[in-house]
Amino acid sequence: MSMNTVSWISMSELQTALVQALGPESVVSEASVLEAHAGDWSDVKKERPSIVLVPRTPAQVAQALSVLSKSNQRVVVQGGLTGLVGGATPRQGEVALSLAKLNRIEDFDRTAGTVTAQAGVTLEQLQSHVEAEGWFFPLDIGARGSCHIGGNAATNAGGNRVVRYGTMRDLVLGLEVALPNGTLVTMLNRVTKNTTGIDLKQIFIGSEGTLGVITRLVLKLSPRPPSANTALCALASFESAVRLLNELRRSLPTLSAFELMWDDFMTAALEMRKLTRPFSTVHPVYVLVETLGSSYESDQQLLDQCLERALEMELVTDVIVAQSLEHARRLWEYRESIGEMLSQLKPHAAFDIGIPMSSMERFVSAVRATLSERFPRQRHLFFGHIGDGNLHVLSGPYEAEDMVHEVERAVYLATREAGGCISAEHGIGVIKREFLRLSRSPEELHLMRGLKQLFDPAHLLNAGRML
Ligand code: FAD
Repeated sequence: MSMNTVSWISMSELQTALVQALGPESVVSEASVLEAHAGDWSDVKKERPSIVLVPRTPAQVAQALSVLSKSNQRVVVQGGLTGLVGGATPRQGEVALSLAKLNRIEDFDRTAGTVTAQAGVTLEQLQSHVEAEGWFFPLDIGARGSCHIGGNAATNAGGNRVVRYGTMRDLVLGLEVALPNGTLVTMLNRVTKNTTGIDLKQIFIGSEGTLGVITRLVLKLSPRPPSANTALCALASFESAVRLLNELRRSLPTLSAFELMWDDFMTAALEMRKLTRPFSTVHPVYVLVETLGSSYESDQQLLDQCLERALEMELVTDVIVAQSLEHARRLWEYRESIGEMLSQLKPHAAFDIGIPMSSMERFVSAVRATLSERFPRQRHLFFGHIGDGNLHVLSGPYEAEDMVHEVERAVYLATREAGGCISAEHGIGVIKREFLRLSRSPEELHLMRGLKQLFDPAHLLNAGRML
């Protein structure tokens, strides 16, 4: 018997038990649904789950896990399936547990600025809901229309505004989690300061569904900034970009994004989205700057002053300042073309590494030279949320899996040498599992395995991911 198949009862008995626990509408085995749940955005081989469970309440999630654990059945947790590391892609014989129907915003505390929502609410749904009433949830990523807030917490998502607001870890006040044995642990804390013992929610944030299923979250909001100002800068070098970042950090407390694109990325964006070049000439580096503040006019004045100074200091070669919301959206389009790139360069190696800023330029030059020499027929695109040391590299398309693996080894070994980490935001999943030891010590891995053993001794939940 394979490790992935049901040990104690047959699949049809399991299905009957699940239908009894959840009702027939939440236990689905139609081929089209199984196909739709066969994988995430990564290149990991698609695999249809044996059943898709779509519980309607947190209690049903816990009930489903209880039935599955009694049957010794492995299960993969699925949010919006936008993950890039194969964590939500089923492995053979697994049941998929989708949070898609847990999509209610339950409470909106307009006095404190918190929202309590179910895990399957999409990031965009949450953003629009609170913005309509003058509040703001700052996490923002390109997959906002499909990814779930539960998935964002499970992966500790980062995105465009980490430089000002932090990652998902900094935005979650409380969580509810269903453990693999079916226990529902409600930790829906709503206050900012809480020093009552160990902060258990942090163990689940970023654990990629290996320890429990997030069912509800309390999220911290900020007042909606009345004004957003955006500019696209052209620069002569990465070194200028670092100096610009430090200048803006000093003089622009409203800085909310600092997205860097090398020209290889910009050229690919122009081709894939059929965009026109933003400047009349080609520049080595581009930076998208966003500020979120309280007054459009005075914020614009401050941004203009800072950029003028940067032009005088020759940190910046040219600048386009957005004149309207529509103009700002068009400037963001270059950076947002990553969705098309991920699709068109498949099969690819996609990196989201963290590199100390002091080593970044040397690292990029060395890795670019290695990749261009060893893989001259592939494209290697460099970009990132450089405001927080997060570098992305997208490299592809590759004809063979072992080539992707070779690229991964080269980049992750260089990352370790540079004192960086192999994932700054997408997580480990299955793709980076064998490389985790490059970023974590044997002692840390031992502790992580201990936690897995504590929460999921039978290794039924997201088995073979991360650890
Ligand atoms: P899924 O892909 O469904 O799952 C991801 C992992 O979390 C899996 O291991 C899954 O088992 C687990 N999981 C999902 N829901 C739960 C839950 N409720 N409880 C427990 N475990 C769960 N990521 C960034 O951080 N920053 C970016 O800027 C960014 N940009 C992106 C742009 C594009 C175009 C795309 C396609 C992806 C991007 N991502 C980015 C990656 C992805 O969107 C994030 O990792 C996101 O947080 C995943 O959420 P999801 O709901 O789609 O999760």
